[in-house]
Amino acid sequence: KEHSSRNSLTYFTEDMKESSRDYFEIEMNLRKGLIENQFMMYFQPQISGPDARIDGFEALVRWNHPEIGLVRPDIFIPLAESTGFIVPLGEWIIQESLKTLKKFHEAGMTHLGVSVNISSRQFIHEHFPEMIFQALDQYQLSPDKLCLEITESVAMEESSIVLERLHLFTKKGVKLSVDDFGTGFSAFVYLLDYPVNEIKIDREFIRLLTQNKKSEALVKTIIDLADNLRLSVIAEGVETQDQLGLLQSLGCQRFQGYLISKPVPPAELTQWVNKFRP
Ligand code: C2E
Ligand code: CA
Ligand code: CA
Ligand code: CA
Repeated sequence: KEHSSRNSLTYFTEDMKESSRDYFEIEMNLRKGLIENQFMMYFQPQISGPDARIDGFEALVRWNHPEIGLVRPDIFIPLAESTGFIVPLGEWIIQESLKTLKKFHEAGMTHLGVSVNISSRQFIHEHFPEMIFQALDQYQLSPDKLCLEITESVAMEESSIVLERLHLFTKKGVKLSVDDFGTGFSAFVYLLDYPVNEIKIDREFIRLLTQNKKSEALVKTIIDLADNLRLSVIAEGVETQDQLGLLQSLGCQRFQGYLISKPVPPAELTQWVNKFRP
């Protein structure tokens, strides 16, 4: 049966959500997908410094469904979260991401790191820290080469388990990045108490950046705040040279976006990395 991408979206979000039977069916599909290798990891380069060298990449999951085709993560991640499937999927994502990073380290590019998106349910799962430390151990990778991207809403959740884990990961040297920064409701001042290493400015602010002065002021505020708190700052969704230039003039040091590269499969990432090899 053929589905257009709009139909597949409707199929997943409207139809299948309706009854608990449908939830069960999605969960079955997701689990089958994992067993049958339908998931793939793509990686998007992150660059920094005056010579725009690649220093890491963000891992982004893809679901290549045999009938529907490519299903976007914005569609299946929320479903995976609600069924709990995010836990085994998340473990697979960590494995694939560290496996890919390890290949680069073995080829001598030990300065590279990987950023992995972690959803809330996964972050608070009881075995999550253990799973992370075991995987780092398994691949013999230094913890500071792994960065966990958590959204602002997770980071600022006033739950003791979140805070406890932020401290634990920091103590062990695992990096923490606050994704989609600026989109939550929390006051910036919260950051003072949270052990995180990086702020990731949301794509929407970058999109508006060259269009109005207010968003320029806002982005400048975020960058200055990060500077003062000794946090690293990265801009996501950089699509134009104008955006890049403006961000540089505002003091932003790291960038990610279509201007540099789209998310690519591992083989293409290797080509990309080799091209920019120091
Ligand atoms: P995100 O973490 O904010 O990821 C950034 C999204 O922006 C990615 O979409 C990426 O492909 C896209 N993007 C990157 N550069 C540009 C650009 O220059 N312009 C535009 N317009 N878009 C750009 P993607 O891969 O579809 O992922 C969507 C969301 O799904 C992610 O948002 C993240 O919240 C979630 N997600 C993706 N992979 C994973 C994963 O492995 N685990 C978890 N828990 N969530 C994931
Ligand atoms: Ca992210
Ligand atoms: Ca983001
Ligand atoms: Ca996002």
